[in-house]
Amino acid sequence: MTDRRAPADAHDATPPAQPVGGEPRPDLAAIVADLMPSVLADLVSLARIPSVSLPAFDPGHVRASADRTAELLAAAGARVEVVTAGGHPAVIGRVEGPPGAPTVLLYAHHDVQPPGDDADWDTPVWEPTRVGDRLYGRGTADDKAGILAHVAALRAHGGRPPVNVVVFVEGEEEAGSASLPALLAEHRDALACDALVIADSANWAIGTPALTTTLRGNVRAVVTVRALSHGVHSGMFGGVVPDAVTAMCRLLATLHDDAGSVAVAGLESSDETTVDHDEAQLRADAGALPGVDLIGRGSTTSRLWTQPALTVIGIDAPSVDEAANLLSPACRAKLSMRIAPGQDPDEAMRLLAAHLSAHAPWGVHVEVEPEDSGAGFVTATDGPYVEAARAAFAQAWGTDPVDVGIGGSIPFISEFAEAFPGAAILVTGVEDPDTRAHGANESLHVPEFEKVCLAEALLLQRLGETRPRG
Ligand SMILES: [Zn+2]
Repeated sequence: MTDRRAPADAHDATPPAQPVGGEPRPDLAAIVADLMPSVLADLVSLARIPSVSLPAFDPGHVRASADRTAELLAAAGARVEVVTAGGHPAVIGRVEGPPGAPTVLLYAHHDVQPPGDDADWDTPVWEPTRVGDRLYGRGTADDKAGILAHVAALRAHGGRPPVNVVVFVEGEEEAGSASLPALLAEHRDALACDALVIADSANWAIGTPALTTTLRGNVRAVVTVRALSHGVHSGMFGGVVPDAVTAMCRLLATLHDDAGSVAVAGLESSDETTVDHDEAQLRADAGALPGVDLIGRGSTTSRLWTQPALTVIGIDAPSVDEAANLLSPACRAKLSMRIAPGQDPDEAMRLLAAHLSAHAPWGVHVEVEPEDSGAGFVTATDGPYVEAARAAFAQAWGTDPVDVGIGGSIPFISEFAEAFPGAAILVTGVEDPDTRAHGANESLHVPEFEKVCLAEALLLQRLGETRPRG
């Protein structure tokens, strides 16, 4: 329920901290509650635009969603520019705060994932539909609700936030952010900030806010095993000469121990997570068949967020339908290794290659080709900006936020960290465990979204009481 107390006044026994300017803090909870109908209406208008950024889709829709985003930001008091650097358009909005106030960059993206099969949706993909507490439709959460959270925070402050606000809304996050480095380089001065709020992640549960503080990195490599100079008859030579596919199977089997933990020596790993999944729910979400064990050790969250994971994502070997009675001379496999946040990807690649070379069975020749890699990420978990975010979340939800990780990598977060090494990075989000971002029946939990909007408005208020570093 929304707290609708009147704004604090001079008669309070314990007056609230005074922001820059000496005026009393506005009652943002009441203000945000009043704003929500218009915020939701604007979210619906934005989510109606099918702004899929993948190459096979009409880029005109991505342009339209950039334009609509620009309109919304301009109406919230921002000076707005639609910019491109060879890819889909991004939107930069700027609102000046009081002199000397810190600068906060608010990130979201206006492009969305493809809809998938219409038949899998219970409501129209591009016509946002409210059912109970949830608003269904592609982009209603990921990440058009992130845009509207920024808009709501600006509106809550009447377009005059207590900090300098830069809003940066990207148009190709779902397609890999190819032109993001160029955009960041080209607009470095306009985007410079003391703190960065990336509203593109998830909360832990309905009623439990979260700050995303770690992301795993990834390393991909192709390993080739060669046993023979040419294929030979399995009846004539089988039993004395090894084949490459069997050798590959034995090699791949060394990558995990019996419990399923990654067995590559020297990789970083940590088991320090403060929350954990319900195992039955996790099994159901993943579609694990009855009787199939979960693998690894430690909390499931550490297995997903802070320990390495290794998956064989492809094997080139003779197909079953075309199999001849032949000892295969060579076999290739592609490996995807998720690495602990903070692990150097080059070092991880080196360790993986060393493991594969050292464990080749029967003297077969092993060649490892690094494919691509990306660093994970660890945000600072203290400092004035993080403290302000924790306090704002606690105030909006009435319960302390938890620190969560993401098992996948989000390259653009690393791009920002590289571009603005001095800025505090706060990864927030509008999603909850049932959001189904990228899937059919994506939805936003509306009461929770009000808390997201309030938390961001409160965060700006608190950051206005924080001096920039240095
Ligand atoms: Zn997203």
